[in-house]
Amino acid sequence: MTTQRTLSIIKPDAVKNDKIGAITMRFEAAGLRVIAAKMEKLTLKQAQDFYAVHKDRPFFNDLVAFICSGPVMIQVLEGPNAILLNRSLMGATDPKQAAAGTIRADFAESIDKNAVHGSDSIETAKQEIAFFFTEAQCFSRA
Ligand code: ATP
Ligand code: MG
Repeated sequence: MTTQRTLSIIKPDAVKNDKIGAITMRFEAAGLRVIAAKMEKLTLKQAQDFYAVHKDRPFFNDLVAFICSGPVMIQVLEGPNAILLNRSLMGATDPKQAAAGTIRADFAESIDKNAVHGSDSIETAKQEIAFFFTEAQCFSRA
């Protein structure tokens, strides 16, 4: 199995609902180690740049406004097949479609307020990690 890194964001809804610990426990229980972390309230510019891939989608403005609406917990996770493993722990984008026992099924209220973000490919993981952290801020234990 390949050791990978992925970017996780615990979104403002889950932070507000005091789910940082419950969500992070799921990562660690599945073998994903937190190797970098910071809590921040994103600026509009940061959010627009981070979600630039969605800039032409009808939900872009709402998405950006929501991610800036409160503090988020940004983490780099490292472990076997981290990118796909995190996506499977997260569950489907719309919590109504998310499999039972996934983070979104248990902690998200709607498709807009869906508790977590996770990188979706090797390429985006690399870009998204570099968006928030330098290599020196990542404490690999692989
Ligand atoms: P994320 O990128 O947050 O991990 P995702 O990869 O499951 O989620 P994307 O398709 O990348 O989903 O969409 C990014 C975010 O935009 C979603 O998390 C969701 O909050 C929002 N979004 C996606 N599709 C819709 C939609 N049809 N209506 C409203 N919001 C949406
Ligand atoms: Mg996505």
